[in-house]
Amino acid sequence: MENNNRRQFLKKSIIGVSGAVLMPAHLNSVTKVEVINTAPPELPFRTLGKTGINTPLISMGTSEASAAGFIRAAYEAGIKLFFSATYYGEGNNEKLVGEGLKGLPRASFVVGTAVPPDGLDNRTGKFIKPFDPQAYIKKAEDSLKRFGIDYVDFFLFPYAGKKEMVLNEGVLKALEQLKKQGKTRFVGIASHSDTEEALLAAADSGTYDLAMIAYNYKTINKESLNSAVEKATKAGIGIVAMKTTAGATREKSGPPLNTDAALKWVLQNKNISSIVSGMSSLEELQKNLAMIQNLKMSEQEMKDLKLASLDMQPTLYCHQCKKCIPQCPHNLDIPAFMRSYMYAYGYKNISQAWHTLSGIDLAENPCEKCTTCNINCTAGFDVKGKILDISRLRNVPKDFVMT
Ligand code: SF4
Ligand code: SF4
Repeated sequence: MENNNRRQFLKKSIIGVSGAVLMPAHLNSVTKVEVINTAPPELPFRTLGKTGINTPLISMGTSEASAAGFIRAAYEAGIKLFFSATYYGEGNNEKLVGEGLKGLPRASFVVGTAVPPDGLDNRTGKFIKPFDPQAYIKKAEDSLKRFGIDYVDFFLFPYAGKKEMVLNEGVLKALEQLKKQGKTRFVGIASHSDTEEALLAAADSGTYDLAMIAYNYKTINKESLNSAVEKATKAGIGIVAMKTTAGATREKSGPPLNTDAALKWVLQNKNISSIVSGMSSLEELQKNLAMIQNLKMSEQEMKDLKLASLDMQPTLYCHQCKKCIPQCPHNLDIPAFMRSYMYAYGYKNISQAWHTLSGIDLAENPCEKCTTCNINCTAGFDVKGKILDISRLRNVPKDFVMT
């Protein structure tokens, strides 16, 4: 599927395959423009499952983008697939992405966003109140307004894990309705935990077209995850990978992670169509685009990755395995605290860290009164220390942190 041939790329590009064959009639008029005003450079690509969309091996997770001009620069450099979320900057990120892509032929880029449902308990992965399809559709419509476009290519259902949630009748109904109404071309899940279960359920559903999954060299249970990825791929689901450097930043000093090696490792799996990279600078963008030109791992890269795998020093990456939750007498949503910690100290994204903290239903922080913390964390974290540290952000007013 990878092909560097420019003519082939243009022929089979986003427009060529998806526009003519898979586009519903009511959307064809919206996406009739068949000229890309900035010709894509020669980037190796793969196909996103049954969507037929060809995308370069690097796509953009936009949470780290702070200017519309950066989105536009990424597009002009050849990036075609952009993912945002309603909760990035409380919707401001969707506005920024829309601004960056404004005026471009709609069929020349692919954009998706994650729309979380209300009433989901992240600790159990289950709904604590009945899912409301109409409220969900309204949230998705609000996203379109922020982007300033008539439709997205993907609405993603985030924090997908338990099959009861992925296959929830109301959820499937809402997603199908959004497709029928022409508000999205495709739908998918985004999964940070219980990913194997989520993938298998999505494969069974017949509704989902895409899955964005956490996937990196530190992934636990690689074999069973790869098997679930394989099954989902066979069911026509396109797979894209996030969290691909496993939170490259170490807690203490040490040699920096060879990120090219980490990203190449992900792409050795041909079932992964593209990496959704949270790039924040042109330098990082260029580095990633250069990396995908040659996926063969050098001896040095393999050595570096092996050393990084053996390094027992914790990175900032939480596996979201949830093994800590039953160990905590207060049943804290520890994975959410750890995500917030990683956003703040790893990605330096204080707004995202603040938002994640604010989503934790907690009147006070019980860690302050807890005399002992015997949590045995898969990643080796000092859980109590991190919670106490990041919780200070809860006292910062929203206006100071929102971008
Ligand atoms: S904090 Fe540790 S145990 Fe808890 S989800 Fe993260 S990696 Fe797993
Ligand atoms: S210190 Fe915090 S995380 Fe650890 S057991 Fe107590 S409440 Fe749970």
